Amino acid sequence: MNPPILYIVVPCYNEQDVLPMTSGMFLDKLTQLTNEGKIHSDSRILFVNDGSKDNTWQIIMGLAAKDVRYQGIAQSRNRGHQNAVLAGLMAAKDRCDITISIDCDGQDDLNAMDQMVDAYLDGCDVVYGVRAKRDTDTFFKRFTAEGYYRLLNRMGVEVVYNHADYRLMSARVLQEFSKFREVNLFLRGLVPLVGFKSTSVYYERHERLAGKSKYPLKKMLALAFDGISSLSIKPIRMITLTGGLISLLSVAGIVWALITALTGHAVAGWASTACIVCFIGGIQALFLGIIGEYIGKIYLEVKARPRYIISDRTEGMATPSSGSDPQED
Ligand code: UDP
Ligand code: MG
Repeated sequence: MNPPILYIVVPCYNEQDVLPMTSGMFLDKLTQLTNEGKIHSDSRILFVNDGSKDNTWQIIMGLAAKDVRYQGIAQSRNRGHQNAVLAGLMAAKDRCDITISIDCDGQDDLNAMDQMVDAYLDGCDVVYGVRAKRDTDTFFKRFTAEGYYRLLNRMGVEVVYNHADYRLMSARVLQEFSKFREVNLFLRGLVPLVGFKSTSVYYERHERLAGKSKYPLKKMLALAFDGISSLSIKPIRMITLTGGLISLLSVAGIVWALITALTGHAVAGWASTACIVCFIGGIQALFLGIIGEYIGKIYLEVKARPRYIISDRTEGMATPSSGSDPQED
């Protein structure tokens, strides 16, 4: 049996500082795996330029011109990390047997790829890269991230603890995955839904080699909220439940108000009335907001806009692969 063709999918957004360093590391890894006979010599590194405003695409084109194992596609504008990864995976799925998605900043240990490929050769279709420790993160990031994974699980969203988007997926998983048509993407919550045999490999996460994080707090919160609201309707259920409880309390309140009025102490009730009005008003606004978030999501899904648009390709990626996103291009 031929060894599998591997495509390493690397999203890049304004990464001109780090790409010259990490591109060589990716190629070394590809060469090593090929020499060991674990992957086919047609394996490639596929960079996805996510609408960078710096020289990232020029660097990718330069790499592709030097070595055929470097390939690139460019999104027509910045669409965010999740969409960039999806664009890369969908472009790769008909050209390869396995993909590994990884950030381009050198934070994720490339050596974990050896174990990922081994696990695939042992029969796993999905291999999650899991951070063994979070030493390099700030206390704030570590604390919020771990709390968030717990919250997701409570909400019934199945995610692998401390796994981000460093993972191996086989082509047949990607074929099934391409049928998931949602626009609100939270890949790490969707992949477990596809099923197939999976396992985890553990690695240590390093500091970014160069450049700044492209995930400011605002983007991180947006992704965190997407993770819950695009995969769980538990918050809405909780609203219904809380609404029911408050209604019950209101009945008790009305009884209390009536008794107060009948016993002639009505004026004394002003403060409590004001409190109740405020409380109900606040909670209603909050709940309407949460429901509104879901309606917003429905609105976006109904429009079914393309999830990525590819504007440029390096030579090896020139023809769009068959069976790709029907809304692409
Ligand atoms: N990224 C992207 N589009 C964006 C933001 C980020 O393609 O809009 C890429 C980025 O180039 C990197 C990966 O996503 O390869 C993860 O981003 P980053 O390392 O900045 O996030 P962090 O590790 O700080 O959470
Ligand atoms: Mg990073």
